[in-house]
Parts: sequence; structure tokens; C-alpha cells
Amino acid sequence: MNYQIALLKGDGIGPEIVESAVSVLETIGQKYGHSFAFTDYLIGGAAIDRTGQPLPQETVDGCLRSDSVLLGAVGGPKWDSRPAELRPEKALLGIRAALGLYTNLRPAKIYPALRDASPLRPEITGKGVDLLIVRELTGGIYFGERGCREGKFGEEAFDTECYSVYEIERIGRAAFAAAKKRRGRVTSIDKANVLETSRLWRRTMHRLAAEYPDIAYSDLLVDNAAMQLVRDPAQFDVIVTSNMFGDILSDEASQITGSIGMLPSASLGDGTRGMYEPIHGSAPDIAGQNRANPIATVLSAAMLLRYSLGLSAEADAIEAAVGSVLDAGYRTADLLGQMPGEPLSCTEMTAKLLSKL
Ligand code: NAD
Repeated sequence: MNYQIALLKGDGIGPEIVESAVSVLETIGQKYGHSFAFTDYLIGGAAIDRTGQPLPQETVDGCLRSDSVLLGAVGGPKWDSRPAELRPEKALLGIRAALGLYTNLRPAKIYPALRDASPLRPEITGKGVDLLIVRELTGGIYFGERGCREGKFGEEAFDTECYSVYEIERIGRAAFAAAKKRRGRVTSIDKANVLETSRLWRRTMHRLAAEYPDIAYSDLLVDNAAMQLVRDPAQFDVIVTSNMFGDILSDEASQITGSIGMLPSASLGDGTRGMYEPIHGSAPDIAGQNRANPIATVLSAAMLLRYSLGLSAEADAIEAAVGSVLDAGYRTADLLGQMPGEPLSCTEMTAKLLSKL
């Protein structure tokens, strides 16, 4: 098969890490008989410098013509003083909206070789942490009515949360579908003891759960979930939750795994096209030095294969290559931290991954 992939390399370390993922995809293509046609489009600060806009229309159109989209990262000090509407980061909300991406998937997995990098005790991480947070991305309190006004105690501000059954159902279905491809467990997280939106969320999830008898379903209040994530993260397979709870819990989960340079993410909509990106930013402090860890972006490319192109064996091969490279003791500087040893550069780590593939 021939697949069209849009590349949004962006700023800082974006170009280095996307190049790494491209060479991994090309190697996978040779091994499994697929061809990938990659097209670069401008986004973020790089787009501002060339066109004056963080998200040129040509980029949106190019992504809409592609089977899927791989993004590096955007932003950097050069553009920090610009007004919010014209900053590189604005392009992220714009491209998600233009592509109709309402589901955010963030896996958090501890590789056995990196257990020491987790802030949790070995007896907790030793049980094997491998969970997926499914976060609603385009609704809830981040998009509700808001404002400032004069209230009972003087100046006050308010934000409101609204979720429709339609929005809850579609994110719920994404979670149940993901669980089918994993270990078959879904935990829905809400605050149904206090919030009306959470009560609707819970009722809707229960109705959906009845349609998926092969999935083990449970719900948890968000305060308990925050606690359980550090007490016993191994109990979770797929977590589904609202925009704000997902924002907070996914950062908590990412810390459990030890390094920001390891974690991929996917944003999906109704069709198969998605946008895949590492969870970290453009790391301006190490940009252009060939020191970035490419693994989060390489694993994002694996998610692209799995979720957009339906190529699970190919995605498994990439994830296995990452595991073997780490087992063999290879580390980029972020993974080495204070430990002794010579760190690999971004291109050296990429070469190790290619040789494992
Ligand atoms: P960051 O994630 O870019 O960097 C935080 C720290 O982690 C830095 O020390 C960096 O060197 C390190 N780091 C990050 N990724 C790494 C990798 N792959 N390998 C090795 N080390 C890595 O966060 P920040 O410094 O807060 O933000 C920098 C810029 O990125 C800002 O302009 C911010 O707005 C932007 N940002 C973009 C995205 C995105 O594009 N999705 C996400 C977050 C931040």
C-alpha cells in the first residue's frame, strides 16, 4: 500500500525528531512492503517566519489530503513576545479543530529497562505500568461559557462545563474500541458525586458499557483516580475522561514513566486520519545539537501505523525495537540523567532503532 503522510516538523528539536521517525517508517515500509510519501508543511514559528501565520491554509489543506499527520513540536523564545493569537502554539488548536480531532490518546508505559527513572518505588513499577488515557479534546470546561463580572464579593470570574450525550458517547466509543485492541478494561473517571456533567457522563458510559459485554468496565471519582495512579498504576488499562480531568491525569501518568522524551500521543476524529506527536515541546535548550531523544516521536509514528493505517504488526515491531534498544542499555542524555555512561545522540539512537528493526 501507498500512504500519504503530512509532516509538520515545526520548531526547535521538531525537525530532528521527525526525521528520525521518518527513517523508522521508511525502514518499516521496506520490511513490510508499504510505501510512504512524506510531504512537509509549515507550522508554528517556522510558518510565522515564512508566511506571517502560525497555521497557513496550505498546511491545513495538505493535512486534509493526507492519510495521516506526524507533528514534531512548535514554539520557542523567538516568538514568545507575540500576542497569543499569533503565537506558534495557536496553530495546535487550529489544526486539531480543522481536522475534527476530538479524541486524545496518551499511552503511559514503563519500559522494564527504565524502571529506575520512575519516581515511584520499584515494588509499584515492578508490576508493569502500561495504560492509555483517552481524553475528550474539544468540549467541556475549556470550551464552555466564560467571563468576568461583578459578583457578591466584587470582581469575579466564571467558567462553565457542558457535555452533550453525543460528545460523551463518541469519546466513550473511542475508549471501548481502544480497549478491544489492548487488555479489554475501561475505567471511566468523573466527579459524579458533585457535578451534573459527570452524572450525565456516568449514565451515558454505563449505557455504552452494556453494548460492550467483552470489556470489563468500572468508574472512579477523579480524586480517587489521582491517588490510584500513584498507588497502583498497574490496575489501569484504558482510562476515559473529560477534557480537564484528562489534561491533569495524563501529566500525572506521564511523570510515572520517568522521561518526557519517551511519551507519544495521538489525536483522532471520526475517520481514520489522525495527528500524532510527542507529548513534549520543542526543547529550545537543546535544539540543533543532535541531543534530542527521538523515541517519543518514533512511538508516535507507531501509533500512526496502528490507529490510522491499521498496521498493528508494524507498530508492534517499532515498539519492540524501542524495548530492545533500551534493554541493550542505549540511552540518550535525558534518559541517562545523572547516571554514568556515554549518551547517544539523536541520530545514533535512530541508527540503533533501525538496526533492531
Ligand atoms: P519542553 O517539553 O520543550 O522541554 C522541557 C525539558 O525537557 C527541556 O529541558 C527539554 O530539553 C527536555 N526535553 C523535551 N523533549 C525532549 C527530548 N525529546 N529529548 C530530550 N530532552 C527533551 O517544554 P518547555 O521547555 O516548557 O517548552 C518549550 C517550547 O515548546 C515552548 O515554546 C512551549 O510553548 C512549546 N511546547 C510545544 C508543545 C507542542 O508542540 N505540542 C508542547 C509543549 C510545549
